[in-house]
Amino acid sequence: MFNTLAEALDWASSQFGAVSDTAKLDAEVILLHVIHKQRNHLYTWPDERLTVQQASDFKQLVAQRALGKPIAHIVGEREFWSLPFKVNPTTLIPRPDTEILVETALNLPLADNAKVLDLGTGTGAIALSLAYERPSWQVTAVDKIAEAVALAETNRDNLKLPQVEVLQSDWFDAIEEYDFNLIVSNPPYIDEDDEHLSQGDVRFEPQSALTAGMQGYADLFHIAQAARDYLAPGGYLLLEHGFEQALSVRQKMIELGYEAVATVRDFGSNDRCTLGRWPR
Ligand code: GLN
Repeated sequence: MFNTLAEALDWASSQFGAVSDTAKLDAEVILLHVIHKQRNHLYTWPDERLTVQQASDFKQLVAQRALGKPIAHIVGEREFWSLPFKVNPTTLIPRPDTEILVETALNLPLADNAKVLDLGTGTGAIALSLAYERPSWQVTAVDKIAEAVALAETNRDNLKLPQVEVLQSDWFDAIEEYDFNLIVSNPPYIDEDDEHLSQGDVRFEPQSALTAGMQGYADLFHIAQAARDYLAPGGYLLLEHGFEQALSVRQKMIELGYEAVATVRDFGSNDRCTLGRWPR
């Protein structure tokens, strides 16, 4: 089948067929994970032979990828905002699209000691990226799933951001502070009947992190409504949503009394986040 690193890459690239449009890259990432080396190693030492153990581990992981398992689950990690995050099947794999939410939050006119709440934090990607960039912000991250809380805590500890508080809470249920200067969330927003849910990598992610009732609006609208009680005067709500949901989210936020409601596009030019300010 294969003996050397170069042969292993060729073989693996041919195994993925329809599951991946990045077959070569997937093969590289899995091989580097197995041999614990940096990328340049593959091209500096293409004729190096895999050990029997490495070859067997590699075959097993390639087989999992061929069945559609996401690369992030195979290697247990995904980079977001240039930071490493542990991932597991209990929550969403951080998406590059969500980096625009972080960038938008960082551009808001907030005080050095701003209080920030991240709802449905999952891996902690948003909350921890914000805390990394603004170490003096008081960041709280919540998730309703205990395993996600544990994962976010692990990432917090790995990233050495002990100031971030992680709590188990179903949206605002366990929150007892009412003066947040910024509330952010990337809630589930995909329509439960969306056909993409049965295709590709999302099949391996939990429905709880992906889908919501009311054509995907149930959690977005719930958060927009409830956040009013938890925002300080002049505080901001910033929500990620689907690329076709911007108009409805803006209308809802205006109807709920938010000011300066605006949508921001992601790096793929899709409407991705909407923010509004609670009146002073
Ligand atoms: N943007 C993600 C996707 O398309 C969904 C993220 C979410 O539901 N919050 O898979």
